[in-house]
Amino acid sequence: MKVCVLIGIILTIGNNLFAQEYRWQQRADYTMNVTLDVKTHILRGTQKLVYHNNSPDTLTKVYYHLYFNAFQPGSMMDVRSRYIDDPDPRIGDRISKLQPDEIGYQKVRSLTQDGAAVTTREYGTLLEVQLAKPLLPRSQTVFEMQFEAQVPVQIRRSGRHNNEGIDYSMTQWYPKLAEYDHAGWHLNPYVAREFHAVWGDYQVNITLDSRYTVAGTGVLVNADSIGHGYGSSGKAIKNNRPTLTWRFRASNVHDFAWAADPDYKHLRTKVPDGPELHFFYQPNSRTKVWESLPELTVRFFQFMNEHVGPYPYETYSVIQGGDGGMEYAMCTLVVGEGRPASTISTVYHEAAHAWFQGVLANNEATHAWMDEGFAQYYQNEAKGAILGDADPHSRVYEGYRTLARGGKEEPMEQWADFFTINDAYRVAAYFKGCILLRHLKYIVGDENFRKGMRAYFATWKFRHPEPLDFIRVMEKASGMQLKWHLNLWTNTKKQIDYIVQGIEANAGRSIIRLTRKGELPMPIDLKVTYSDGSEQMVHIPLNETVAVKPVAPSWHVAPTWDWVNPNYSLELTHPGKQVARIDIDPSGALADVTPDNNFLIVSGGQ
Ligand SMILES: [Zn+2]
Repeated sequence: MKVCVLIGIILTIGNNLFAQEYRWQQRADYTMNVTLDVKTHILRGTQKLVYHNNSPDTLTKVYYHLYFNAFQPGSMMDVRSRYIDDPDPRIGDRISKLQPDEIGYQKVRSLTQDGAAVTTREYGTLLEVQLAKPLLPRSQTVFEMQFEAQVPVQIRRSGRHNNEGIDYSMTQWYPKLAEYDHAGWHLNPYVAREFHAVWGDYQVNITLDSRYTVAGTGVLVNADSIGHGYGSSGKAIKNNRPTLTWRFRASNVHDFAWAADPDYKHLRTKVPDGPELHFFYQPNSRTKVWESLPELTVRFFQFMNEHVGPYPYETYSVIQGGDGGMEYAMCTLVVGEGRPASTISTVYHEAAHAWFQGVLANNEATHAWMDEGFAQYYQNEAKGAILGDADPHSRVYEGYRTLARGGKEEPMEQWADFFTINDAYRVAAYFKGCILLRHLKYIVGDENFRKGMRAYFATWKFRHPEPLDFIRVMEKASGMQLKWHLNLWTNTKKQIDYIVQGIEANAGRSIIRLTRKGELPMPIDLKVTYSDGSEQMVHIPLNETVAVKPVAPSWHVAPTWDWVNPNYSLELTHPGKQVARIDIDPSGALADVTPDNNFLIVSGGQ
């Protein structure tokens, strides 16, 4: 017995060690003191970075991202935008025309590792650092840096003086350590989109002209001496100082963003049992919708807390800035003067990212759909639940079908920057990512899906999940096999196309003939409507799921359809009734590329 117990203990320890070894997280704790000169748009400062190497590897190099360098003529972002067939109109050829005092840059003026100088090599938006001494497994080192940045004229996401007159959108504004994990370094240059980084604690002290209100990641710890709507009274504080130093703190985040403008109005509210919400916008006739955002955003947070899991931070800020909508740690920058409905929709999308990009934080450059698509899904679902939108996913399905039928679709799992056209990226990441969740809900059933999404968040928060991690949680929650769908939907362009071919109707008994024309098989929910108006729901399981989803007792569960067979005959007995109509998937969840042949009206059945 003792030997068995000992072996058991050894095996358990071994398993735990293996689990930790496989999915360790590096850690990067930043302390930054920076000063922004609002006349020259130059930011200077220091950065102390305590880097914890929790990996089993000895590191001889580290890398920083220098994202502002993308806003220079000839940069990869500039060239890519000038060659792609459907450039983002916000970029176009604008970078190529930037003058020296309009470009962005980040310059590392000095860098040491534990006091010793290191050698660096800059290449575009990446800085390679040859360490002064190797960083051993499970040890830490301290990098101290002096850096300078010029805030570019707003081109994309970051910059000064955006279209709506917000002075500073300070995102990706500091030299930021690249992520290293079980897959190695993640060194995506800043070509067009999306970010990935290391979790850590941030202490950021920002000094600038005292007329500016600063909004950003984290909690303002000197709120009572700053005012600008932050203090416990929320009132303005009179001061004659030419500058103020704003002291922000954020724990367990992988980014720090901020924005500054002298004209911000600052609203605050609180999610019951949740974070304090802040809203910053320039009040004018085009931003009236912002007055209703606090209440609508509280309801969104409650919706997400219930369906995905509790938001883990103390604050969240919705900030007018940027050039569309973009998610950052504990905040978002969104444009503020659009149609009211689209402003609300954008805020819902970006706030949903707080769960997916902020807390789960899959690598957006390599699996963009895991957070863009999931944010799109919950944005739409919340619009249905909170705003009463009857068909919130319709635009997503239309967008997918148009691209898929037009032959321009590209596999979802392609890295974000490599899509041939921007439109294919948009459909793959946002629309197909959203549809994946609708498919999973359809395949496993509503309750398993809800359980699965909550388990996914609880299991993988702060751990950078990958596609297989996600689908495994959904498999465990449902007891069903789902990897086949992940594989086909994300790695291929195979399409769903089912057809109701016909019916042999006899008194009290019918044979309904279905055909799978598309290469992507799915289980089938079918609604049979009888001439007396009564309905029968039928579920036809697909062999790949192995287990069958739970359905209401009134449903008929038919024999399994093996996917290799393109045809299926469904036998139904219906004493005293006549079939009037047959509908595949009345819920509309399936992204069937030709939905107009998914139903059959039976002649003589009416
Ligand atoms: Zn998004």
